[in-house]
Amino acid sequence: MKTPFITKEQAERIAEQYPTPFHIYDEKGIRENMRRVKKAFAWNPGFREYFAVKAEPNPVIMKILHEEGAGFDCSSLTELMLAKLVGGEIMFSSNETPAQEYRYADRIGAVINLDDFTHIDYLKNALGEMPKTVSLRYNPGGVFQMSNGIMDNPGDAKYGMTTEQLMDGFRKLKDMNVTSFGIHAFLASNTVTNEYYPKLAGDLFRLAVRIRQETGVSLSFINLSGGVGIPYQPDQEGNDILVIGEGVREQFEQILVPAGLKDVSIYTEMGRFMTGPYGALVTRAIHEKHIYKEYIGVDACAVNLMRPAMYGAYHHITVLGKEAAACDHIYDVVGSLCENNDKFAVDRKLPQIEIGDLIYIHDTGAHGFSMGYSYNGKLKSAEILFTEDGEARLIRRAERPEDYFSTLDVLPDYEKLKEILREA
Ligand SMILES: *Cc1c(COP(=O)(O)O)cnc(C)c1O
Repeated sequence: MKTPFITKEQAERIAEQYPTPFHIYDEKGIRENMRRVKKAFAWNPGFREYFAVKAEPNPVIMKILHEEGAGFDCSSLTELMLAKLVGGEIMFSSNETPAQEYRYADRIGAVINLDDFTHIDYLKNALGEMPKTVSLRYNPGGVFQMSNGIMDNPGDAKYGMTTEQLMDGFRKLKDMNVTSFGIHAFLASNTVTNEYYPKLAGDLFRLAVRIRQETGVSLSFINLSGGVGIPYQPDQEGNDILVIGEGVREQFEQILVPAGLKDVSIYTEMGRFMTGPYGALVTRAIHEKHIYKEYIGVDACAVNLMRPAMYGAYHHITVLGKEAAACDHIYDVVGSLCENNDKFAVDRKLPQIEIGDLIYIHDTGAHGFSMGYSYNGKLKSAEILFTEDGEARLIRRAERPEDYFSTLDVLPDYEKLKEILREA
């Protein structure tokens, strides 16, 4: 069962002030979850969660996480700027990075995590001098598999460097007077099993022991990155972060402690797990259509939430006010793009939907708003924080046509366009 964190009445009241569609975030849920994460890893004194900014790049959400102890994982110039605005520790886990972004990251004190062996010289050239702390991203190749059959394919992924390159990399960094070292790996995405982090940690801990044996480098931190998933399906059981933290601790005690590496800090860069379940897209049914199938047209589209169109991802839907009604209708719930994949749900069993009903799309708090684009000239929605005292606070206004047109200011016709905007 999935339950919305706002009622129909609350949603209607918010919609009077901020018209649909909008993304809404549950402050209480985000704070409580971050506290559980900290508790799960409290056994490791250096532990830090670096929230993956790409999941939900809103400074108000970022600030909430920072207040609860999170730093930020960035991978672009603008994400770095947001992290700088909010404050806190920064990890720069980027790839195919321009020199200018490395310079900015270094200037604002971010830890730089290099995606490839060749980027060591590139970074040296970009900065002139190597930073004191450098992290290297690892890719073991092959297939990463867990006991329940879930797997991912690092051998097919563009990220990270091979074991040999990693060893050479640490030798090289040592010769360049780097004094603090880390490793990072992201080997499986959206894992809904408590096994992922402990298994990854075991692999990385053994690697850390080997790095010390082969290069003399003792790692200061091991970054388990993201990949901890959430249950998008209503019948799926979610991860238990306390069990996950305990599983990582067991590996730590078994592998790192006997090897004399007990001072290693554990870092994570979770995005989806931190905000995914605590966001929703609220949209209104504005059309119904009866052809070869039954369609409900809503005022949001894939521009507001791309995951269903892009990956065929499931997002649960609640028709607000009809939480208890029988799901005795079958609908495709669709957006307005001129793209046939713009469907939030296909053949979904739902209660009867009337025009004007509010449709609550669950689990949009990560990789939701942020993944949006602007196809068909569609505008991005507002973002609203549902605060701990039950207030609705606007944390990003909806885009307006003038935002969409703003980069046309290089054209001679821009003044005419502004006149059209004024008249519209
Ligand atoms: C996307 C990403 C994350 C966050 O992944 P989630 O699956 O949202 O936890 C963390 N680190 C890096 C380098 C990423 O690219």
